[in-house]
Amino acid sequence: MAFEEIIGQERIKDLLKNSLLKENFSHAYLFEGISGLGKKKLALEVAKGIICTSEGIKPCNHCQCCRRIDQGNHSEVFLIEEEGTIKIEKVRELQKEIQMKPYEGKKKVFIINHSENMTIQAQNALLKTLEEPPPYATLILLTHNSNSLLPTIISRCQIFKLRPVETIKIQEALVKQKGISLEESKVIASFANGVFGKAVRMLEDEDFRRRREGILQLTEELLQSKSISLLEKVDFFVEEKNYIDEILDILTSWYRDLIIFKETQELHFVMNYDKIEIIKEQSNRIGLKKLTNIISIIDKAKGNIRSNVNYQLNIEMMLLNIQEVLLW
Ligand SMILES: [Zn+2]
Repeated sequence: MAFEEIIGQERIKDLLKNSLLKENFSHAYLFEGISGLGKKKLALEVAKGIICTSEGIKPCNHCQCCRRIDQGNHSEVFLIEEEGTIKIEKVRELQKEIQMKPYEGKKKVFIINHSENMTIQAQNALLKTLEEPPPYATLILLTHNSNSLLPTIISRCQIFKLRPVETIKIQEALVKQKGISLEESKVIASFANGVFGKAVRMLEDEDFRRRREGILQLTEELLQSKSISLLEKVDFFVEEKNYIDEILDILTSWYRDLIIFKETQELHFVMNYDKIEIIKEQSNRIGLKKLTNIISIIDKAKGNIRSNVNYQLNIEMMLLNIQEVLLW
């Protein structure tokens, strides 16, 4: 790993690299941002930068310390990562460890992943450590949402908020780091909502491809015949119920692409970049009003799912309504 492999977050990386260079780092950091933006990677880079023994730019990424941290195998870097809540006992273990001076080097780094999962008791206990940390220790708290942390905890940390990054950066990184084609990178990046981790998950997830192909096939079938077996298609939605948000997003993206192409004849903003020929063809066949109607129908179905309307009935209605608009 290296700072450069974390996608986007340029300002945060610059500030952190600069403070590592000057050996002027905080005793406590809070990295906040949704899952998949690279909070943990960033924390490990900071840990490396603090502990790295090389002269010059830190982390050097090749000294023994850097390599061992990359392997998750350095005795002065502690990663607390619990399933579910982080209880006070875990914080007490940390406190015991933090009181012992570093054994190998000069510094110790403690990273608490999902720190919002600390119980109030755990947070109160941690507060004492944050108030008077030993000079050799740095704590890095990672969180999806700092609203679940005590204000007194937050106020003792230097806060960095990670934000979703531009689609183009994700696309370039997919080509560079994962070696996929430009075409595939464009499709994956456009569905990743600015989150590189999500892009990587989708890339590695065969089911995402399968679901997407299923949906795109559905859009063809809805157009082709009046006798489409809607029941069969409802089965697909029932089987994939856990992924319904993703599925409806794919469906929306399709009709949105048709609108964009129809209006602009431009491919630049099309999400389903690998299906350009079909987009051209369908956008010729379906009028603009019909397309906007279809998007409203899907939006309505999304709303119904959120308010727990009978799932199957809702999907059936959605498909019937789309078909009616298309064949009307
Ligand atoms: Zn190093």
